[in-house]
Amino acid sequence: MSLEQFIQTVSTKLHKSEEESLDQITILAEVVKNEIFPKERLNNYNIDIQILDKILTELLREGYASKYISYDCENTDQVDFAVSLNEQCAYCKEVLLDSKNHIIRETYKLNSNFINLIGQQKKERLNKYLIEDFRHNLDRLKNRTHKLIPFLGAGSSIPFKLPSWSKLLLELNKGLTGSNKTKYEELIDKGDYLRALSFLKLYSGLYKNEQIIKKDIKDILKQRYVKEVNSNYHNILDILKLDTDFILTTNYDNIVSDYLRDYRDEFIMPQILENLDDLQDLMDDNSQKVIHLHGNVEIPNSMIVTQDDYDKLYKSEKIKSILTGIMSHKTLLFIGFSFNDEYFKDLYDKIFEFIQGEHFIIVPNLHPFDADELLKRNLIPIGINVDKNIEHDYVRAINTVLEELH
Ligand SMILES: [Zn+2]
Repeated sequence: MSLEQFIQTVSTKLHKSEEESLDQITILAEVVKNEIFPKERLNNYNIDIQILDKILTELLREGYASKYISYDCENTDQVDFAVSLNEQCAYCKEVLLDSKNHIIRETYKLNSNFINLIGQQKKERLNKYLIEDFRHNLDRLKNRTHKLIPFLGAGSSIPFKLPSWSKLLLELNKGLTGSNKTKYEELIDKGDYLRALSFLKLYSGLYKNEQIIKKDIKDILKQRYVKEVNSNYHNILDILKLDTDFILTTNYDNIVSDYLRDYRDEFIMPQILENLDDLQDLMDDNSQKVIHLHGNVEIPNSMIVTQDDYDKLYKSEKIKSILTGIMSHKTLLFIGFSFNDEYFKDLYDKIFEFIQGEHFIIVPNLHPFDADELLKRNLIPIGINVDKNIEHDYVRAINTVLEELH
């Protein structure tokens, strides 16, 4: 049976789509690899126990997995495996079925033919999502994973029901009328977000004061955030699984820190770049701490919301020296930035003015012409195919690339 036929079978048994079924099977294969595992091994991986049972039944039926009995011999304090309960304990020689001194558990192992099929499927998925011209760039990135630092933009927060930059700003149009409103919308359309905010401060009757803008942004981000339980619908876990020393972001929200707490079972306090004492502390830290370049929603004063604040931030000698330090020791991977907006162009003009080393960016549907422009600015692009009409296709594409880096 081909993997495709197998997935069809599983999909029927699970009453789920083939895509969802494949996702579950892939998670299983990636978690357990070629090890012997009990069902509990999958406890924290979004697989329902009944679904796992059905998948295992089909895997066993197809010869894609084997079942073993694991026993804990209380006579000798040893652990071993058997194929059947009629076997003797390898240590005390009691027959397992008749003995009361052995704790028996069912365990499973995926067979190599199945692991190969899954590997093949992973390759096909990469072929689908990676634009072929950029394979060489991905290989370069794969050689630098030990130094990798993810750098996250607004795109990574969208699956949590947070508005994109442009939608957020459109909601703040209160107190603008007539031609002012039109001009404001034009700036947003161009992706010139910081100038739009400066404009708002000048012309809105309501937002004369920067503090009110910050408070409204804070309220929107905090009220809208919905934690997404299905890990296939966002990339935060994919990013955390890279186990990098720390994570940089221009986002104000605390989504990554929220997931980091679950991931590491401890709360790691996010930090604001401007408040870092010592670059070396950060370099030696491997807590996966989130560093916010443009402030954090919990500390509205830290939020950079106008062009002036932004220009001031990147003129500061301290910020320049921290960024230069990070970039000369680490390999940044930009995720969730829209290459076409002024916000990102401005950001990297500021950051890359003093760029050192090799840094990468994942860009959906990247044209070779735009790729050249990125390369001119010393940013190595990885173009991915994303069908905007397919839900979660962007997340799947990013996931596919990040899987290559584990
Ligand atoms: Zn025994």
